[in-house]
Amino acid sequence: MRRALIAANWKMHLGRRDDALRFVRRIRHSVGQIEGAEVVLCPPFTVLPELGEVLRRSAIALGAQNMHWSESGAFTGEIGPSMLSGLCRYVILGHSERRATGSADESDEAINRKVHSALGAGLVPIVCLGETRTQREGGETDAVLRRQVSAALAGLDGAEVGHCVLAYEPIWAIGSGRPATPVEANRTISLSLRGFLAHRFGEAVAREPRVLYGGSVDAGNIEAFMGMPEIDGALVGGASLDPGFVELVRRAAGTRRTAD
Ligand code: PEP
Repeated sequence: MRRALIAANWKMHLGRRDDALRFVRRIRHSVGQIEGAEVVLCPPFTVLPELGEVLRRSAIALGAQNMHWSESGAFTGEIGPSMLSGLCRYVILGHSERRATGSADESDEAINRKVHSALGAGLVPIVCLGETRTQREGGETDAVLRRQVSAALAGLDGAEVGHCVLAYEPIWAIGSGRPATPVEANRTISLSLRGFLAHRFGEAVAREPRVLYGGSVDAGNIEAFMGMPEIDGALVGGASLDPGFVELVRRAAGTRRTAD
């Protein structure tokens, strides 16, 4: 059984030391007591070291929101894999806000290089994939997702694929308050992501990676997503920034246990 995972993408919020510490101190005890779901907080780089200290004996893990593929070099403003591997266990890669649809114009090829480097540094990549509204309305969702996942995982072996986390994040659902329906998200993950993995790597490998859904998940809808067989958790943006996140995690863990 794949272990449920709730990953909090703080984006460019709570990046000041005092704000981040206040928030984490407020939720860590309650979240740490919840069994049945792994929780990862992905704050801005600026507070990773401090949160690492505060969460040292906690079950809550940390992740970064991005990473360069190179270890070092003339890459102004970038952070390399081994700079992160002592600070966190996960790294979000290829978020739509960093792809061509977002602000950083990241290519599929760059994301693939990052995935390789992250695995090489012992980090677990959370690889984001998703279609725009126009692509969805044009019936291109399956083709877009297959292209993205194929490019992101190119050159990996089955064991490495199993180690990755995939996050299906339809771009039109992110921050919109209008999530995909759980049935639709489950169908897309099954067809376009696990279907692709089965075709490329075989059925056994296709069952290995955890696949999250992301896009306007909150405490009110998490149970419906967690009740779906292909959805192993959620990547949560806005709803991870307030104390209601504790309830979201509690409900996610509760649903998953029932489903077991
Ligand atoms: C995200 O940006 O990864 C995300 C899922 O955001 P939100 O939950 O706010 O839609």
